[in-house]
Amino acid sequence: MEYKNPEIAEVAKQLHEKFAKLKDKRAILRAAELTALYDRIKTLPPDERASFGKEINELKKELESMVRKSVTSNLSPVTSIDVTAPFDMNVKPENRPKLLPAENGSRHPLMTELDIILDIFYRMGFAAVESRELDDDYHMFGSLNFPKDHPARDEYDTFVTDEDLVAPAHTSIMQNRVFKSMEIPIRAVIPGRVFRNEDLDARHEHTFYQLEGVYVDKGIHAGHLVATIRAWLSSYYEREIKIKIQPFYFPFTEPSFEFAASCIFCEGRGCNVCSHTGWIELGGCGMIHPNVLREGGIDPAKYTGFAWGFGIDRLVMLKYNIEDVRHFHSGNLKFLRQFA
Ligand SMILES: [Zn+2]
Repeated sequence: MEYKNPEIAEVAKQLHEKFAKLKDKRAILRAAELTALYDRIKTLPPDERASFGKEINELKKELESMVRKSVTSNLSPVTSIDVTAPFDMNVKPENRPKLLPAENGSRHPLMTELDIILDIFYRMGFAAVESRELDDDYHMFGSLNFPKDHPARDEYDTFVTDEDLVAPAHTSIMQNRVFKSMEIPIRAVIPGRVFRNEDLDARHEHTFYQLEGVYVDKGIHAGHLVATIRAWLSSYYEREIKIKIQPFYFPFTEPSFEFAASCIFCEGRGCNVCSHTGWIELGGCGMIHPNVLREGGIDPAKYTGFAWGFGIDRLVMLKYNIEDVRHFHSGNLKFLRQFA
């Protein structure tokens, strides 16, 4: 930039030289030479002050623009660190090594299957309600017709905290809450994690997923129960499934049943999976006990209902012919990648 005033032109030249040597370029705006020029204004004859002042301002603007340019050109690219990335974030995507889908992270097969299961129930008119992983004695037992000191409580070898909270052994802990909070007709499915003190083997885990279902309305009977389970299982396994129920005992249902589905592998002819019986036991079910309905604020003289509980892990094992339930919680990538 050309400055008409020789004094300013000279200072501008000096400041340019100084600027080139400065480490912190912003310091040029505080240079003593610049301040001295401003101080010169009041020593000039009044008719020269305006044009002199104007040229100093132009010089200052020039210096400011030089500072701005140097700061932006010296900015180094921001290197973000994603500690979860299985590759170097600073390597361009096209230069990164090819990853298997599972190395990018993927959903757990149980969660994918749970979505499919819940979707079937949505279409059948059921709402999904989330369970919880810590509960109290009332919801685990009291609300479900297990009187205090009832021997049936001993069937549930549960985990209890120092504060007497229970790690739920079944998703039935939610029945009372559902009855009290939903309008009749009640159609709800309740997926959740449950915990049992089990001896572990290929068929038993201490932690697994269960799917509870409840249906309450006028005139509901066991025929509706069997039809509902058959319809959803046939939809899940994409083939016609037969259902067999046999009497069982649960304190919270009366009558209570165990139910078995026709083997999806041999369609009832008998194979290794079904121990050559043609049937696979899937869970418990029954008509909700009048005491349980009453405890949930529902008049058992007016309404009836059914409930069931399936092990989700077991359903998924059957669908994919998985031989050991412990794979699900093993963190074994070789197993999980098959579903990615
Ligand atoms: Zn079979």
